[in-house]
Amino acid sequence: MEVLYSSTRDGSKFYKASEAILKGLADDGGLFVPNTIPAFDFDINKLKDWDYKETAYQVMKLVLSDFTEEELRNCINNAYDSKFDTEEIAPLVYADGAYYLELFHGATIAFKDMALSILPHLMTTSAKKNNLKEKIIILTATSGDTGKAALAGFADVPGTGIVVFYPKDGVSKIQEKQMVTQRGNNVKVVAIKGNFDDAQTGVKEMFGDEALKAKLAANGYVFSSANSINIGRLVPQIAYYVYAYGTLLKEGKIAAGDKMNVVVPTGNFGNILAAFYAKNMGLPIAKLICASNDNKVLYDFFQTGEYDRNREFILTSSPSMDILISSNLERLIYYIAGNDATKNASLMAELKSEGKYTITDEMKANLTDFVGGYASEARCAKMIKDLYDKCGYVIDTHTAVAGAVYEDYKQASGDDTITVIASTASPYKFMGSVMSAIDDKYASMDDFALIDELEKVASVAVPKAVDDIRNAPVLHNNVCEKNEMEQAVTSFLGI
Ligand SMILES: *Cc1c(COP(=O)(O)O)cnc(C)c1O
Repeated sequence: MEVLYSSTRDGSKFYKASEAILKGLADDGGLFVPNTIPAFDFDINKLKDWDYKETAYQVMKLVLSDFTEEELRNCINNAYDSKFDTEEIAPLVYADGAYYLELFHGATIAFKDMALSILPHLMTTSAKKNNLKEKIIILTATSGDTGKAALAGFADVPGTGIVVFYPKDGVSKIQEKQMVTQRGNNVKVVAIKGNFDDAQTGVKEMFGDEALKAKLAANGYVFSSANSINIGRLVPQIAYYVYAYGTLLKEGKIAAGDKMNVVVPTGNFGNILAAFYAKNMGLPIAKLICASNDNKVLYDFFQTGEYDRNREFILTSSPSMDILISSNLERLIYYIAGNDATKNASLMAELKSEGKYTITDEMKANLTDFVGGYASEARCAKMIKDLYDKCGYVIDTHTAVAGAVYEDYKQASGDDTITVIASTASPYKFMGSVMSAIDDKYASMDDFALIDELEKVASVAVPKAVDDIRNAPVLHNNVCEKNEMEQAVTSFLGI
């Protein structure tokens, strides 16, 4: 069955998956959503026999239905290869009552590699399928991890170029070093004087700017997005939840049909939305537990039904979750409104003008699968220390937010369903905070000095991604005001 995509703000136009991937964002500013969420067409027991690539193929083929088997398998084979440091791609590790789904074994040691290693291949395949003549220019706003993962994915991919914007003081030292050392003839990295929301707003405005679009077209370029709003990012993420279930089956921890809970440290709402799609495709998931840090807009939303971004933006030790506008939530809003684009569009207009909106009771009743929770900085640090003391397992700050939210949820609810926690970054990516949580004595040491200390403590070898950037030369040192972003793009393209 062909799955078509329409905008969350206009239900009248339909696009094939490959067209939606190329466009990134719909013309009206909405996000592409499938007109139907296809059900698994295989017996769930099969999952225990499939490796990561086979699982990814069986899941993605249902949603990206205009790709041929050969096209999709090529994309998957090019993505999930030796760029990952384990053949399992997404291993499941048990520690203290929960299963940690390690999504950080790719090129940049964070979960965005799971999608961004395949997106460039989905995009160039889509370009071929649609006879696109223009060169694709990727514009990306990043809170740290997306940027490097997108740069690594697109660097030197023919027919593409990429510009990444990050908040100057809003990413970790390691994250910044990873980005500014990126090689490639088609890449540009720019720091902006503002926060992540400023960067994201600037990118969204460029996507909606007709004059700019025309100027690009006249010069043989077309914009696309690698942010988690692109359906080509969301779809590959569904696969690892299905794979995690398969691993539990294989290891005899569950029987086919048993339910599992999923806990996701959330920022832009892409990762947990993928779990939501997995559930709706037929994966036996009980609760979807959405974990926030001190920027707890989502926690408040799940409590009250009101989404309100009018609050102080707090810089935390889990910067990839320091977000007040979770873009992908729009897809869930559309869904719980009964696929009603008009209703969604009016709520999004309120978000834009008032900075807030409230969903109806009827919509709220469709959210019973979700549980919202949050963890303070102190709680998160305690989580890292306790888990390390108990099992010697070291987790990063984002994963710790999820771990803490899960412990608190379990305590309060008594729910002992088997639980998978999305582990979204290697502890090597946020060493300063991770090591100070384990012992105060590390607090004064700089991130790079801590690399060797963490290796001793965690007994996990320094990932290649970290080793590589230690001595790499800085190739990008652009800083701009938030109203100069367009200029940065046009000068990069020489137009
Ligand atoms: C991006 C990111 C998140 C948040 O994921 P969303 O899909 O934006 O909700 C959490 N942890 C890490 C390490 C990330 O890089």
